[in-house]
Amino acid sequence: MTGSTARIQAIEANKADFDLVIDIRPHAGSTPTVYGAVAVTADRLLSNPSQFIGSNEDVVLVVCDIGLRSAIATDQLRSMGYSAAVSLEGGIESWITAGLPTISPEGLSRDDYARYDRQLKLPDFGIHGQQALAGARVAIVGVGGLGSPVLGYLAAAGVGHLTIIDSDNVELSNLHRQPIYTTSDVGRAKAEAAASYAAALNPMIKITVSTTRIDTTNAADILRGHDVIVTCIDSFETTHAINGAAVLLGVPMVFGSVYRTEGQMAVFDVRSGPCYACVFPGQSTDPGLDCSIVGVLGPVTGVIGSMQATETIKMIIGSSGVSTGLLILYDAEAQSIDRLSLQKVASCATCGDRRASRIRV
Ligand SMILES: [Zn+2]
Repeated sequence: MTGSTARIQAIEANKADFDLVIDIRPHAGSTPTVYGAVAVTADRLLSNPSQFIGSNEDVVLVVCDIGLRSAIATDQLRSMGYSAAVSLEGGIESWITAGLPTISPEGLSRDDYARYDRQLKLPDFGIHGQQALAGARVAIVGVGGLGSPVLGYLAAAGVGHLTIIDSDNVELSNLHRQPIYTTSDVGRAKAEAAASYAAALNPMIKITVSTTRIDTTNAADILRGHDVIVTCIDSFETTHAINGAAVLLGVPMVFGSVYRTEGQMAVFDVRSGPCYACVFPGQSTDPGLDCSIVGVLGPVTGVIGSMQATETIKMIIGSSGVSTGLLILYDAEAQSIDRLSLQKVASCATCGDRRASRIRV
């Protein structure tokens, strides 16, 4: 230990016997740290060191990310009389690089910490958000232009169980807006190809595949047991069938649709707002909405699908900012986003007082 300079190398620190190890990182307690470290921010530590350090003679190791803030804090502690305080040179980064043991506060592996590092550092995310994602089951209905980014982002973020539902095969005309597939996937079942992509992206999650076409007779059975349903399809009829199941099961449905260069996104959560049928009652058989006829700009599906993935993650981690009760309208030509407030309709045929019995279970 080089006490005169108040710095200690990781290898040396690992052999030393400290009275106390303090991790001053703001996100300490949610990422791996030195075994036995207590999480105390620098502000708290320096405002009242005696609250944490037993005596002026205690040998204290101060840890941060790369050793800069801990060096400053250590110098201040020493100037306050804590003469045996030392800073970990290079911070926890050098500790991990040296292959020294760390503790995972809540059971995540070192690989988990590396994989999810950037989201773990978000103020409202942290270890509890990651755990919530790991324990979540999400159904993605349709893995086309919208479902591609939804699947990619949810798999990458660590949603523990994804159910991929799609009855189509990959076609060459899909590839301009569905970049999870390659040319060699043409002809494969989409659900299978999508599952291969997601498993390669994140082998830690569980993926279930269904090639069943969803309708009112099977929607509730297929979707039961999920925490969130994400609809990424262009069929009114199927969306109504899924909405009926979502209402029946009391599960939020994250809706997205795209028309040429415009898109819509909404979170329909019947527990706190309107359902899809409140806003889009009735059916439509207008073929003019089919992108195979009217065309679609590929990245627009990426924008809307990314919004759907964002709202899904926010719901799972318990964010207070979920856009339930809003219809988000995106116009790629003008690069504008509008928000419409949605209202629950008492007479809604699906969730209202005069609910029809067209949902079969
Ligand atoms: Zn409704």
